[in-house]
Amino acid sequence: MSRGGVQARKVKLRRRVSSGSRRSLGWVPFKASALRFRNGQLFMSGFDRPLSLWDSYGLSGYELGAGCFSEDARGRWYLNVTVKVKKVEPQQRRSAIGIDLGLKDFAKTSHGEPLEAQRFYRRYEAALGVAQRARQKKRVAALHAKIKNSRKDFLHKASTALVRKHGAIFVSNVNASALARTGMAKSVLDAGWSAFRTMLQYKSDDAGVWFEEVDERYSTQTCSCCGSRTGPSGPTGLAVREWTCALCGVLHDRDTNAARIILQRGLERMEAQFAAGAGQATANEPIAGVGRDPLAEGIPVVSATAAALG
Ligand SMILES: [Zn+2]
Repeated sequence: MSRGGVQARKVKLRRRVSSGSRRSLGWVPFKASALRFRNGQLFMSGFDRPLSLWDSYGLSGYELGAGCFSEDARGRWYLNVTVKVKKVEPQQRRSAIGIDLGLKDFAKTSHGEPLEAQRFYRRYEAALGVAQRARQKKRVAALHAKIKNSRKDFLHKASTALVRKHGAIFVSNVNASALARTGMAKSVLDAGWSAFRTMLQYKSDDAGVWFEEVDERYSTQTCSCCGSRTGPSGPTGLAVREWTCALCGVLHDRDTNAARIILQRGLERMEAQFAAGAGQATANEPIAGVGRDPLAEGIPVVSATAAALG
């Protein structure tokens, strides 16, 4: 007999699993006072031995805040910690920059500089192909982790450099669904783009830099010199790297031109907001002093201490 179509289903919580491929990864949070430097070595309160770290960030130069230890799929431990940093004086950063996120380069700026992410992990990708064909599961996992880490490292360094250098940053709002037909690794691109925008957002907020995402529609087709829509369009237009404006005759690099359009639109929006709220604009001026910046993230912890933590 039917019970009126209502199905009673028990909701199960996933239990913490300590082994196998679906095990829960380790995570040990700590408060700001837990880490201390003594004689050039980093100590965690409650442990006699110093932490064994690959300290590529030079943590001893910073005042350390709260953070956590986290484990990745390979069972390696990482230290994530906030650090106190001195703010750059605002008058050193008066320039504005536009950034076009793309496929050929990870991003291109309105100054024509490419930001190439792949260069840092292309060598791992070749090795990954070899390991995948040989069905070396551990090696594949290790290489995936390396690619992920170097990509994250690249995004952090690139976003920090931009925020240090500029007073206003505008970035295109491109998302992977717009690239549905290109057959690229959409999830990878999407994750990289959104992570980069998130980093730019919080680093800009913290440094008092004006940051905005700008509509990128027609940015590759609009001439950044005369504003006419004379650039390449349609599916064939994707392959065009350079084009000449039929109206004003200027030769454009496709992505640099797009970044310039992003910059122009960003500045227009910024001006409009200044005009709308005259007098309130100073609220966005950075306050000189110090602020917290999640600058150092994912610092590998060497296994001796990991055993003590895990
Ligand atoms: Zn033109």
